[in-house]
Amino acid sequence: MPQKVQRVKGVNDILPQEAKQWQALEHVVKQVMDRFAFGEIRPPIFEKTELFARGVGEDTDIVSKEMYSFSDMSKSSLTLRPELTAGVVRSYIQNNLQQISPVQKLWYEGPMFRQERPQKGRYRQFWQFGAEAIGSPNPEQDAEMIALFYAILKELGVEKSVTLKINSVGDSESRANYRSSLQEYLRPQLSSLSETSQRRFESNPLRILDSKAPNDIELVQDAPKIRECLNEVSATHYAEVLKMLEVMEIPYVQDDLLVRGLDYYTHTIFEFTSDALGAQDAICGGGRYNDLVKDLGGQDVPAIGWASGIERLLLVVEALQPLMAESGLDLFLVVQGEELRVKAPKLINDWRKAGLNCDMDTLRRSMKAQMREANRQKARYVAILGEEEYDQGVVQLKNFSTGDQEVVLFEKVVDIIDEKL
Ligand code: AMP
Repeated sequence: MPQKVQRVKGVNDILPQEAKQWQALEHVVKQVMDRFAFGEIRPPIFEKTELFARGVGEDTDIVSKEMYSFSDMSKSSLTLRPELTAGVVRSYIQNNLQQISPVQKLWYEGPMFRQERPQKGRYRQFWQFGAEAIGSPNPEQDAEMIALFYAILKELGVEKSVTLKINSVGDSESRANYRSSLQEYLRPQLSSLSETSQRRFESNPLRILDSKAPNDIELVQDAPKIRECLNEVSATHYAEVLKMLEVMEIPYVQDDLLVRGLDYYTHTIFEFTSDALGAQDAICGGGRYNDLVKDLGGQDVPAIGWASGIERLLLVVEALQPLMAESGLDLFLVVQGEELRVKAPKLINDWRKAGLNCDMDTLRRSMKAQMREANRQKARYVAILGEEEYDQGVVQLKNFSTGDQEVVLFEKVVDIIDEKL
C-alpha cells in the first residue's frame, strides 16, 4: 500500500462542519466592517522578503527566525506573509490610495505563516482578520479602531470574557527618553538578564519588558514606566484615547509591561486577551504605527491597525456561546426506480436553479439508505420520487421536523418550501 501523506506540522484542515463556524464568524466580521465603513483589501500571500525585513523589523522574532522564505525562478527572495500590515502598507503606497481619500480604512482576512513551535492556539499557518486606518494622527482614530474590534466581540457575545490591555509607547522622543531610563535601571543587573534580553539591551531594550524569562520578569516589575516618560504630546494623545474609551463604555486595563513584539509601534498599543484560553491567550493585538508608511518609501502618513487570530477567537466563542451551525440543506431528493436515474438530475437541477439547497444520492443506494442520508444531513424536507409519481409530475414531500407528508406538483415544490422556511 502506498504510504499516506500527512499534513505539515502546525497547520490545520478546516473541515465542513467547522467551516460553518468560520463562515458565521466571517459574516459577523464583514457586517461590522461595513458598519464602521472599512473596505476590504486582498493583498497577495507572498511578498518580497525585504518588505518584512524592513516593515516588521530585523530584530523581531518573526523576521529573525519564523519566516517561510524561498527563492523563485528569478532568484529573488520571497516570503509567505507572516502578517499583513506590511503588505497593506506596501499596497497603499504602490496604488496611491491616499489620492482616493486622505483616510483609508481597510480590512482583510486570510492565512498567515510563521514557523513557531506549534501548540494549542499557535500554528504555522493560521488565519487573521485585521483592520488598518491609514491617514489620521488623531486619538479618535485609535478609539474607533478599538471600538471596531470590541463591536465584533459584542456581536459574538464574548466581550465580557475578554480583557483589553492598553499602553502607550509614545512618539520617538518619548521612546528615546524611556529607552535611556530603562537602560539606566537595567544596567547594574545586565549580567543577570537572559541572553536574549542582554542582546536586546542595546538594540531594542523595550522588548525586555515582555521577556518570558522568570528572572527578567521579576527585574522589570520595578522598572520605570513608559507612561511616566511620555512627552506632553504623547501623554495628551494617550489620555484622550482613554477618555474616549470611557465615554464609549469600553472597559480597559492599563498594562505598563505591554510593548508588543513588533518594532514599528508608536503611541497607543493594545491587546485583547481571554481567560478562556491557555498560554496563548491573545486574540487580537495592534497599535499605532506612525512611521511605517514613510519607512516603506511612502509619504509621512500616520496609521493604526490591529489583527485578530481566527482560530483563537473561535476557541473563545466555542467555549462560551457556539455560533449556530445550522444545516443549509432545504431538500433531499429520494429516488426509487432505475428509470429515474436519468430524469432525477434535471428535476433537482431545476430546484437548485430556483434557489433551493438540494442534494440527492449518487451511489444508487436503497430508499432506506437515502432516507438515512437525508436525516444525517438534517435536510428540512425530503422529496420522494417513484416511477408512479414521476408519471403524474409529483413528489411526496415530507417535512422532516413535523413528519407531515403531502403530494406536491414538481413546479410547486419551491413555493411550498419557500413559504414554510
Ligand atoms: P500578531 O500579529 O503577532 O500581533 O498577532 C495578532 C493575533 O494573531 C494574535 O493576537 C493571535 O490571536 C494571532 N496569532 C499570532 N500568531 C499566531 C499563531 N502562530 N497561531 C495562531 N494565532 C496566532
